[in-house]
Amino acid sequence: MPSGADPLTTQNLSNLSGGTHVIRIFLHIVRRDDGTGGLTTQEIATALDILKQDFEPHGICFSLAGIDEIHSSYYYNSFNTSKFYSLIQINNHPNAIDVYLLGRDTPWGGGSGGGMASGIPGDALCVVGNGNSFNAPGVTLATSRVLSHEMGHCLGLYHTHETSFCQECHSNCSVCGDKVCDTPPDPYLGFQVSQPPGCLWLFSSSDPCGAPYNPDTKNIMAYTLPTCMDHFTPGQGLRMHAMIAASSLLQQVVVPNDYFLQNLVVAPQQSYLYDALTTITAENIQVLPQGSLVLRAGQRIHVRPSATGLSSQAFQGSFFHAYIDNTCSTIDVVNNARITPLSDRNTAPKPLTMQVSTTSERLRVSYTLPQEGEVYGYLYDIQGKLLSAFNNHHRRGTYYHDFSVSSGIYVVVLYYRASSGRYFIETQKVAILE
Ligand SMILES: [Zn+2]
Repeated sequence: MPSGADPLTTQNLSNLSGGTHVIRIFLHIVRRDDGTGGLTTQEIATALDILKQDFEPHGICFSLAGIDEIHSSYYYNSFNTSKFYSLIQINNHPNAIDVYLLGRDTPWGGGSGGGMASGIPGDALCVVGNGNSFNAPGVTLATSRVLSHEMGHCLGLYHTHETSFCQECHSNCSVCGDKVCDTPPDPYLGFQVSQPPGCLWLFSSSDPCGAPYNPDTKNIMAYTLPTCMDHFTPGQGLRMHAMIAASSLLQQVVVPNDYFLQNLVVAPQQSYLYDALTTITAENIQVLPQGSLVLRAGQRIHVRPSATGLSSQAFQGSFFHAYIDNTCSTIDVVNNARITPLSDRNTAPKPLTMQVSTTSERLRVSYTLPQEGEVYGYLYDIQGKLLSAFNNHHRRGTYYHDFSVSSGIYVVVLYYRASSGRYFIETQKVAILE
């Protein structure tokens, strides 16, 4: 890294009027096949806290979209660069930066560990092993500022010793080196720095303009000891904001100001999280039993009927959580929600047709499937209490299911998951008279 040109051709700071950017992250904790090894719950909290500490002073916050575990001795027992590129294909998310954390005992190539980002900018990173090869013996890299270093790459930062554009002296700082002017020219420290708190560079030389190098040995983007890293400069913070604003890749992982959510069915066993800095507006949202929906906004969550009168419902046995949270980082809120990209959402015509017929003791729901899929049916009373449910896997065709009922008012909900993975729902209210 880097490969090719700087994607940030102009660092337009005029549209950065005091804004905060919130970046979604998804954590993947890698362990051995049998689930042993890797970070403890406390270490995961420490890793998230390091990200918060390092980026919050620059107005960059993180929203934790979820955590999963990957059990694979293939990755855990030894790691290398080519394994990095296959690991980041596992359970990845198009609208979050995927963060893969391995244990302190995972070696990387011939070394004791390391970190890598998928690009500058990038949407995946990993941190692996310990600091023995980096003059920080015994340090777990995943809970060190190496994590912030890799996140810095994802958000557009180069190493302070970068030379691929041109070698930096003070006068050319905006186009050479790391293209950030408040980081001094850096000769490449190669971890040859004294232990903290001194963190003194152990050599001396002069930059191409003849001035003695005076590198920032505590900068997170330097090749300094992980235990010496302690800050990004304001210029690095501005470059990250500019990159987030300019990069189409990062626009997918940034939490939007406002979000409009429409016609969502949350199926059993599915979890969704939607977040916005200011307002979420939701229309026609159905949270089925055993489905989970979390809405998180900074100022306002508005659940309202659609223009055609479709309202939103969370059924008994579902988990529906809407809350206002405008703190910088919500990474302390750990949930297993999954973010679904915009393109997944259902905008196609409904392929499911349903009819309900009744006698005085029986409610028959008939339905036609255009293709193979899974059908879940629910019968509720008018208070929303679940009375009965069924679940069938069908080939295409017309089927029916009978519910035993007495007189009253009922709501029938039919949910259909096509083999394509798309979801559809039909709801009907039925009155049965004596
Ligand atoms: Zn790096």
